Parts: sequence; C-alpha cells; structure tokens
Amino acid sequence: MLSGIKQESFVKKKKSKKEFGVEKLIEFQHVSKIYKGGKIAVDDVNLSFDKGEFICFIGTSGSGKTTSMRMINRMTDPSKGKILINGEDIQTINPVELRRKIGYVIQNIGLMPHMTIRENIVLVPKLLKIDLEERNKIAEKMIDLVELPREMLDRYPNELSGGQQQRIGVVRALAANQDIILMDEPFGALDPITRDSLQDLVKDLQERLGKTIVFVTHDMDEALKLANRIAIMSEGKVIQFDTPDNILRHPVNEFVEELIGEDRLIQAKPDITTVGEVMLNNAITITPEKSLSEAIKLMREKRVDTLLVVDGTGVLKGFIDVETLDRRRTKATSVSDIMNPKVFFVKKSSLLRDTLQRILKRGLKYVPVVDDQQKVVGILTRASLVDIVYDVIWGEEDSTNETETTDVTQPQAEV
Ligand code: ADP
Ligand code: MG
Repeated sequence: MLSGIKQESFVKKKKSKKEFGVEKLIEFQHVSKIYKGGKIAVDDVNLSFDKGEFICFIGTSGSGKTTSMRMINRMTDPSKGKILINGEDIQTINPVELRRKIGYVIQNIGLMPHMTIRENIVLVPKLLKIDLEERNKIAEKMIDLVELPREMLDRYPNELSGGQQQRIGVVRALAANQDIILMDEPFGALDPITRDSLQDLVKDLQERLGKTIVFVTHDMDEALKLANRIAIMSEGKVIQFDTPDNILRHPVNEFVEELIGEDRLIQAKPDITTVGEVMLNNAITITPEKSLSEAIKLMREKRVDTLLVVDGTGVLKGFIDVETLDRRRTKATSVSDIMNPKVFFVKKSSLLRDTLQRILKRGLKYVPVVDDQQKVVGILTRASLVDIVYDVIWGEEDSTNETETTDVTQPQAEV
C-alpha cells in the first residue's frame, strides 16, 4: 500500500511479551529449498513467527539461514511447502508488491556517499513514490529517533562520524514503515563496540515501533541479546526454535550446547583472579598529536591493527584502528583527528570473571586495562582469555579438539 505510510503508524505502543502468540504473522509450512544440482539448502522447515517478534536465525555458515530468510520476500521461492504471511500464501502475491511491504537489509549497512543524509533515509520511500512533503516528514522523524540534529539531514555521510552514519543506516531500514524487516548479518563487519550500540538501537526501535524483524546471525551473543525467539539451523534443518532462556536452559542436543559453549565456560568458572594477574603488559599506545604516518609505522612494527591513545601522562583517551586510519588518511593528519573516544576498558583490580562475561558478550577482541588514575597498564585479549579459561577448567589437559575452539582462538588483534 503506497498510502500506508502514515506518521501515526510510527507511534505504535511497545509490545509486551504477553501479546506474542496473538497474531501469527509469518508461517513456514514444510518448506524446503533444493537448488539446481541437488543441494538441499533448506530441509522441511516448519516455523511460525508472531507479529512484533524479533526472530534470529543462527547457525554455521551454509546452514540455510540466508535462503530461509530470502524465501520470506520471494527473492527465492521454496521448492516444496509454503510460506504464509498473515495467513496468505505468498506464492499468490506478486513479488514486487510483497517486497514493498518487507524491508530488507543486506550485510554491512552502508550509506550512499553522493547522497545527503535525507536522501539516504528516504531512498526506499522515494522508490515507493511517497511524495516529497511526506518524505521530509519521514526524514525528520527518523533522525529524531536516533537523536541526531535535524540540520544533519542536509549533510553528506562523510561529514558524520562513523557511528552516526551507522545509526542513520539503521533507521533507513525503518523509513519505509514496512512491518516486516529482514536483516542478513547487518553488523557482521563492525567493530565490537559499534556493533553493541547498534544492537541496542535496533532492538529499542523494533520494540518501540512494533516491527517484526527476522535477523540472520552467526553470533550467539548477538542472537541471545536481540531475539525473542531463536531458530537454530544446521544443514538446512531447524534444530531448535525457542526463547533465548529456554535454549540456554534446555539445549536440545550437543550441537546447540556447542553453539552456546562460551557462556557455559564462563559459568563454570568460579574464580577470584583479578584482571591485573592475567593481563598482558605490552599494550601498544600512541599520543594524540602524533601523525598518522607515525601511527601506521607503529602498527606495522608491532603487528597490531589497533592502537590505544593516551595523553602525555598515560591516561587512556580512546583508540584508533587500521580501518579508520585507512579510510580517513587523506583528510586527517594527526591521531587525534581519527581517534574514537568510545573505548571500553577495565580496571586492573576488577575480577576476571566479570570482565570475561563482558568481553565475550560484547564480542570484544581486546580490552585495555587501566589503574585507578585511568592510566593504561596492560591489555586483555580475547585469545589470551580463552586460553586462561581453558587452563583453569581443564588444567593441563590439552584442548586437542581444534574444531571446538577455532571460533575463539583465531588470531585476533594482538594489541
Ligand atoms: P547460510 O546463510 O546459513 O550461510 P545459505 O542459505 O546461504 O546459508 O546456503 C545454504 C546452502 O545452500 C549452502 O550450502 C550454499 O552453498 C547453498 N546455496 C546457497 N545459494 C545457492 C545457489 N544459488 N545455488 C546453489 N547452492 C546454493
Ligand atoms: Mg548467509
């Protein structure tokens, strides 16, 4: 419905959990997808999602998550079975018509650099032939939602910080006021802190606007944080479909247990070790007035992709990473120009147990360690933490099963 974009519809009340189950919005009935050549990508999937739910598909690569999602807006059609939306078989709906009602966000939400923020936000509404006045209202509504000033609407993406651009990317997905939004690993390539805050944003907006979101991820922390219900997939089949709580408490099999393994590791670790006892002492730091070429040189020398920024007395001010450096090296000159002040850190005296929770939950690759004066005294890396946890739980016993640990022991930033 083109006339369906009414401002009132943005102020739907927050859904309470109790209301789920009232309205079945999306239903998979014995859905299979067999690609040419015989590959069974999706194998007899039966699921139903309620209006206003946040659904996550999770599973290893190739398990059929994207295919399942793409069948919802007919980017691909099932080979067997059917999908109903509001009780209607979508096979009977024109795919173009269907996609107008279903938003789709591909990996790594990016803004169009040659378009203003306003033009970026109303991209889809414009395609849907919403008139100019209405589009302007939408743009204002959207920028208000992410609490950025309206003047920004007429700026270009490169005039905004990376974090601000990402927030615009998220609301852009909501601008066409579609009730269902499909998101395929939208935050996959972001740094952990940005990812964390965008997860908060998308969850908050979804609840406030009453959207139904189907979200693909391979990150269990992300799924646990966002979803009302999680569909765990393996080899085209849904292995378990349940709330995060129930999945954590009653994983149906070993496969699911492994997927949630990290959390179990943490819970299994009663410990009074402090961060200071296990941190690495070789944090690589740089001061804000240093040039970008000095920063690059230091990164090369120390083989790190991030540097902590400290003032002359060693107090933590932020961080810079190689991606930002690369992106902004033509315009920026000094470290302070590209420094990200939002850096998550821990105190040397904190308990390792609490820190572990946060590092693993937030998907952080590393965390700077500071003393009581906020001076950098060391660093905890995700890789070293995992080693510690294994060590404490299994003692000398070697963790020989590579496949169980690859996800967390891959080389990470060694800052
Ligand atoms: P996921 O999103 O969970 O990584 P996909 O749904 O993309 O998984 O893919 C599921 C399986 O189907 C994989 O084995 C993949 O290689 C295969 N597949 C996906 N798209 C096609 C295609 N167009 N043709 C043939 N095989 C495909
Ligand atoms: Mg995929």
